[in-house]
Amino acid sequence: MNIALIAHDKKKAEMVQFTIAFEGVLNQHQLYSTGTTGKRIMEETSLSIHRFQSGPLGGDQQIGALIAKNDMDLVLFFKDPLTAQPHEPDVTALIRLCDVYKIPLATNMATGEVLLKGLERGDFEWRKVVQEKGGGKSE
Ligand code: PGA
Repeated sequence: MNIALIAHDKKKAEMVQFTIAFEGVLNQHQLYSTGTTGKRIMEETSLSIHRFQSGPLGGDQQIGALIAKNDMDLVLFFKDPLTAQPHEPDVTALIRLCDVYKIPLATNMATGEVLLKGLERGDFEWRKVVQEKGGGKSE
């Protein structure tokens, strides 16, 4: 499965703790992230992550592009609800695309834990069926 990991600055420490806790699950999948989030995770774990641009510089939109091609299976986006983000429109667009393509999305660590436990026991195998059928691809 293709999994996106994104965390706003004040949530990056939580994201790192989360990825350490779930390293054994995450390392069985293809991981993608925005620039700084991925850097932090790779510094603290042995996970290998494809890093896009930093979120405010377009990273959220790059991950959004994968969602729009139905190439992302799960999104863990630990948002900071108490700080204004310069790229708020990009954040909103990413979340909207998850809803358009019915992609499982966690915006905080508690939900992230539920999703990864579901991933571990095979709850998202239906994504493979969607991928095989060409899913929500628009072409
Ligand atoms: P970052 O981006 O991982 O590059 O900090 C995250 C975001 O704010 O979208």
